[in-house]
Amino acid sequence: MATEARTDVVVIGGGIGGLACALAVARAGRRVTLLEASTRLGGRGASEEVRGETRRGETAALPEGVFTLNQGPHAIFEPSRAILASLGVMPRAPLVASDGTFVDDGERLHVLPGGVGSFFGTSFLDARDRLSLGGLFPALVGGTSDPSLTFGAWLDRRSLTPRVRALVEMLVRVATYGADPAYASATAVIAQLRAAAIGGVRYADGGWGAIVEQLASRARDAGVSIALRARASALEPSSRGFVVRLEDRTLAADEVVIAGPPSLAQGLLTPLGDDVARAIRPSGPALRLACLDLGLDRLPEGAAKGAFGTTEPTYVSVHSATAKLAPEGAAMVHAALYLGDRAPRPREDRAAIEVALDRAIPGWREHVVVERHAPAALACGARVDAPGGLAARPSVRVEPLSRGDHGVYLVGDWVGARGLLLDGVLASALEASKLVTRRAPSRSVAGSTALSA
Ligand SMILES: Cc1cc2nc3c(=O)[nH]c(=O)nc-3n(C[C@H](O)[C@H](O)[C@H](O)COP(=O)(O)OP(=O)(O)OC[C@H]3O[C@@H](n4cnc5c(N)ncnc54)[C@H](O)[C@@H]3O)c2cc1C
Repeated sequence: MATEARTDVVVIGGGIGGLACALAVARAGRRVTLLEASTRLGGRGASEEVRGETRRGETAALPEGVFTLNQGPHAIFEPSRAILASLGVMPRAPLVASDGTFVDDGERLHVLPGGVGSFFGTSFLDARDRLSLGGLFPALVGGTSDPSLTFGAWLDRRSLTPRVRALVEMLVRVATYGADPAYASATAVIAQLRAAAIGGVRYADGGWGAIVEQLASRARDAGVSIALRARASALEPSSRGFVVRLEDRTLAADEVVIAGPPSLAQGLLTPLGDDVARAIRPSGPALRLACLDLGLDRLPEGAAKGAFGTTEPTYVSVHSATAKLAPEGAAMVHAALYLGDRAPRPREDRAAIEVALDRAIPGWREHVVVERHAPAALACGARVDAPGGLAARPSVRVEPLSRGDHGVYLVGDWVGARGLLLDGVLASALEASKLVTRRAPSRSVAGSTALSA
């Protein structure tokens, strides 16, 4: 094994969380090495540029230029935008407007009640439903601070009409990526709904890859040493902090940040003892999404811009109607089925997505020039369940392993007391960076790490 290199802070995981944390720590004057197991940065936030191809026997016109594919539908909520902006990362990301967006009740599409006009005009609601929904608004604005309550129990207390309940459950699904009201914490879910309703939702020009690119470039400028194809296989406490083992070398550091889903932290930390395993136990099961990402040569006549299911947990959205993700005249569509914590059934799940597409974008099949199917993408590392809510998620600092100047920290969408999805990733990344840099840099060690991409 090669000689041991030493640095101040090792960040394991080169997704958006690891990059954001590494950047903030390096800007505070620490030497940081970021290890990424794969050949590219970005993790679940990476996007890919793909050229169109016509399928067997089909005659869709091939557009000039590339489609940008996120890994399934990716939207930015306001808390994430604000944290990224504080790091100097500001990709153009227009707000998604609700016009052209529909509720799919399993039989037909109805205008989504997203404003005063559509509230009164939509065929989804009758007079009783309007009264029921109108009465719910103040309760949603007020929220709840009772962490023991599930969102389902919270809804039970409101005596809603069946259609309004189905509408609210659908909005929650879209905002949380499938948190089941029977288990999910009302406090966490309502906070997320409000964040989406007040701050809006944005799609990024160039996809989330634009965020990854800007973060990586800022991180390199701040002096972060980024190593690709660098898989951390073990972490061990030592008298001077921690030693991270890679396939062919070891790396010593005062502090270590583990940035990624629960499986990454569990693989590295559960061998270190039961108390550590308990400290990193997720607050609920992982949430998955079956995704069908489609590049179309053009949008057929009569296509909806978005359609969200109330009887089936489906999602269809033309992301290119908001952000630059497709060649001129072409369209980038994300369609999905929220699986929650159930096992995927790839064939049936895909069929359900296609049925939703048939209603939202009739004739879509004749226009497909790019297609990618992911039967079970990991949308969120852990559902936030009641009782407990956000406060019961694992702390950013792994207490059983931390002493004095030395600590292990977690960053991810299942960690810390703030935010779901990327909002949670970035909130935990900033919290970890503050904990790591709470004291002035203690030493300057010769022979800093020589790992680099
Ligand atoms: C289909 C889908 C849709 C989503 N939509 C949204 C959305 O609309 N809004 C939102 O806010 N969030 C959304 N999310 C969630 C969001 O993408 C994630 O929360 C976020 O990208 C996670 O970032 P991360 O850095 O914590 O982890 P990851 O992106 O998972 O990064 C972890 C990194 O660690 C690397 N790694 C793993 N093991 C090792 C090892 N042993 N050594 C070194 N490196 C290792 C991996 O290769 C990976 O690059 C969505 C996710 C999916 C899958």
